[in-house]
Amino acid sequence: MQRSQTSFHADPNQVYQPAEDSFLLLKTAKSEVKPSDRVLEIGVGSGYVSSGLLSSCQLLVATDKNPHAATIAYASGVPVVRTNLAAGLRGPFDLILFNPPYLPTDPSERIDDWLELALDGGPSGRDVIIRFLQEIPSLLSSEGRVLLLISSLTGPEEVEDLVRKNGFVSTPVAEERVEGGEILLILRLTRC
Ligand code: SAM
Repeated sequence: MQRSQTSFHADPNQVYQPAEDSFLLLKTAKSEVKPSDRVLEIGVGSGYVSSGLLSSCQLLVATDKNPHAATIAYASGVPVVRTNLAAGLRGPFDLILFNPPYLPTDPSERIDDWLELALDGGPSGRDVIIRFLQEIPSLLSSEGRVLLLISSLTGPEEVEDLVRKNGFVSTPVAEERVEGGEILLILRLTRC
């Protein structure tokens, strides 16, 4: 009996390509990571950030909901699970990284493709961040740290408020002004 195989062809045009936010996250993560760390990157995209950290930590696993991103990052050597945020994964992780979809997006502006998932943070820009903050307590080791990238467009004060409500303290550890005056920020979260 012959087994029929269907192969999935990943399309790079459906994957977020490394940009200023990716560069800032990798640079910050490199100065944060310790050799003993078990690292989780949520939303791996092309694999740029995780690839740059693989040799600096004890263990690294990444996730993405986008099958094109999961396939392309996996092919670049990053262990990837295709899932929603970290559903199905068990920690503890010592360092969690997330460059989330953070742009405020009106439902009428949505384009129905996989790349949209990289950008669309819902009307406030914080929809995915809210779900992320609810999930991390069960994944993070007691002394664990999170690096969360946000933008001035995401409402940094509102994000810091959400962080506090979920039992974390946040410290801004990196900042960069990009085109159009937008400011990218990296928050380092630890348990209160
Ligand atoms: N980490 C990459 C980088 O810095 O270049 C990609 C960042 S891109 C701004 C956001 C990534 O998060 C996209 O690859 C997107 O598919 C993924 N993503 C969005 N929502 C997600 C979810 N609910 N679960 C897993 N991944 C998600």
